[in-house]
Amino acid sequence: MIEPQTPQEWQEAIDTAEVLVRLDAARQYGLVTGGPAVNVSRCEELLRRGEALGYTPTADAVERIIPALVSFAWRCRVCGCTNERACPGGCHWVEPNLCSECAMKDNRRPLTCAGSVQRAHSQ
Ligand SMILES: [Zn+2]
Ligand SMILES: [Zn+2]
Repeated sequence: MIEPQTPQEWQEAIDTAEVLVRLDAARQYGLVTGGPAVNVSRCEELLRRGEALGYTPTADAVERIIPALVSFAWRCRVCGCTNERACPGGCHWVEPNLCSECAMKDNRRPLTCAGSVQRAHSQ
């Protein structure tokens, strides 16, 4: 186990610890199922020591960190790609369970439809 060294590392560690403690609390209440195993006592230790050094969790820590934590379980509702198995050309999440590749294809759908209608008419 390594210790945070620089102020930046401390801030990152404190933010993550704060979010993980909250995530774990949410899981206790059944609000979240699954997800990463949280070493709560280690998180609390870091928070305590960070606080003693003058670090407090930043306000947007939850918004920043939760998406990264929950996206591991996402699966694209269109193509079924996951964090481990992205689309061939690479993709990222544009919203929960929808990847950038499929979001892009979705935007092109009206064009494709118009094209096939035209072909049907010319036959
Ligand atoms: Zn997809
Ligand atoms: Zn994808």
